[in-house]
Amino acid sequence: MADNEKLECLKRLQEVLQEKFSLEQQVESLPADLRKEESLLRTMEREYDDLSALSEATVNEAKSLSIRYEDAFQLRTGYEKQMEFLSTQREYEALSKQLEDAKVQEQTLLKQRNSKNKEAERLKTELAAKEGEVEAQKAKVEEEKAKVDSELSGIGEKIAELDAQCLEIKGSTISDELYSKFCNIVRKKSGVGIVPVHGQVCMGCDRVLPVQFVIDLRLKQENNEIDYCPYCSRIIWYEQLDPETEKNYIFEQLESRGAGSESRASSGEEKVQDSDTYDESMEGGFEDF
Ligand SMILES: [Zn+2]
Repeated sequence: MADNEKLECLKRLQEVLQEKFSLEQQVESLPADLRKEESLLRTMEREYDDLSALSEATVNEAKSLSIRYEDAFQLRTGYEKQMEFLSTQREYEALSKQLEDAKVQEQTLLKQRNSKNKEAERLKTELAAKEGEVEAQKAKVEEEKAKVDSELSGIGEKIAELDAQCLEIKGSTISDELYSKFCNIVRKKSGVGIVPVHGQVCMGCDRVLPVQFVIDLRLKQENNEIDYCPYCSRIIWYEQLDPETEKNYIFEQLESRGAGSESRASSGEEKVQDSDTYDESMEGGFEDF
């Protein structure tokens, strides 16, 4: 069989395209980790702001309690001084009552002030720790960003090289139209856009092609033309196997295939499918790329 220049070209193109598409996938997935770290940083910054506001409010409350305590202290000591200058029992009883109330108020405010001061101290420590965490996370994001940027630019350069390589391989052998169609097929079919046909079976989708279709395919191939699998839309080429092996791929011999099955199991029920008509309803029917 004469070499089909187009097919050889497409096979080489496929290798380069596979590499290119896998790099493009990396470009898509690379910044995902960075976005996760950035989102974590934003959450931590919000938590820091909330804590900072709470800490400030607590310090202010402690200050206010401190002033009120000082006032209560002055009031109580003032009453105590007045006690020394009382002349009547009636005045004494009235002032005693005021002094008792003032003492209670003073003690209450002292307790509240001390407890608020403690809380303010605790929040200050917590805030300092949170600040450290935010700074660490910021550094992590910067580091990740630099890493992603450098990797992305490296990958971008490599992709440009592969693009150039594709154009070189393509040359004038493959038309622009076929090239773009083939790129789409390789991309959509997980990197496999050109597959051999063994006997009557497409190695891309494992389906049995009609006898006449394979005969036509072989003729086209000799005339430097290409054709597509009517089931999976991949470009197909007939690969000559040794007669013993090829027997396994001839329709009449495919006794172990289950209809619609993707694999050629060597065991199982003897069930054959009608290969002379294309079943349009079959999963993964022909797509026009
Ligand atoms: Zn196929």
